[in-house]
Amino acid sequence: MSILIQCPACSAPLGNISRDSTLQVICASCCYRFGAVYGSVTRRESEVKPVQRRIPNLPKRHRRHYEFQIQIPSGPEILQCSSSGEADQIPAFEGDLVSCLYTLRGERLEEMISVTNPITGNIYRLASPGSTAVRTAIGWGLLSSVPMLLVLLPNGVEFPIALLASASSIPVVSIWVARLKSPKIRLDPDQKLRLAAEQQLFGEKIELEQRVEELQRKLTTNQARLNQLESLNQKMVEVGADLYAQRIERVSRAIAILDQQLSQDQQLIDQYARTIKMIEIELETSRAVEAIPNAENFMGMIFDRLAELKTIDQKTQQLRAQVEADETVRSLQP
Ligand SMILES: [Zn+2]
Repeated sequence: MSILIQCPACSAPLGNISRDSTLQVICASCCYRFGAVYGSVTRRESEVKPVQRRIPNLPKRHRRHYEFQIQIPSGPEILQCSSSGEADQIPAFEGDLVSCLYTLRGERLEEMISVTNPITGNIYRLASPGSTAVRTAIGWGLLSSVPMLLVLLPNGVEFPIALLASASSIPVVSIWVARLKSPKIRLDPDQKLRLAAEQQLFGEKIELEQRVEELQRKLTTNQARLNQLESLNQKMVEVGADLYAQRIERVSRAIAILDQQLSQDQQLIDQYARTIKMIEIELETSRAVEAIPNAENFMGMIFDRLAELKTIDQKTQQLRAQVEADETVRSLQP
């Protein structure tokens, strides 16, 4: 079973991660580099530590620090993170299967974003990308106002004016520190173009896979309905075609439209599956050589094909409506 990794900032689908493996991906829109690991927790430790305050006399605060060891074939992955307060909040224990998503600074874990249990579907969110940098920046901004206040007040500047003057340094210092500490990476234009193209193709692939699953479900339902009607038709013919003439006509009409629907859905599934494979080939090529060959021609061809298939898919909606409206077919629904 693989899990879809989406950017926690913009929700763009970024990649799939298989069990017992790691993944590194970059969101072309947000410029964060993410790491993910998916496997069993083999060790878990946690302890509460007081938060060191830069400004004295502030109320005491605590954070709980965690260390998880997740075993994958290439060796154990050690992940450290913390949550605010003393409570033990991350529901991931030894023996649990989890997927962890974090931002990376270079190869190092910058900030744990979420811990997910794929079996229960429980997601524990620790932070949003870049939130540690923002917190640090605000802290430094507030701290920067203190020295100015200490200089202005003894020199006879009135308190409201001194406060206003020192407060003016907060946004300047905060923005500067936030830029300095931000885990966002700088992408050159070619890299950004390639990643954006890959991200767009991957998004289309996910959409197509979901559509294929949906069509497969419809296909199974309609095949069962068709079998049921064919069996009914045969029974009526065996007993007496004249006796059941009107019903046989209605059932035969329903069989014909179901048959047509099944054939169209199968064709669509085949075409979508072929397009998914084409996308996979281009994604693998792009990642291997770090460039999309003839990017414009390729992208144009893929998207023309997708547009064509989506139009065909929409046209088949009419037939689907006809199938669902057919009284004989409707009477078969549970
Ligand atoms: Zn993003």
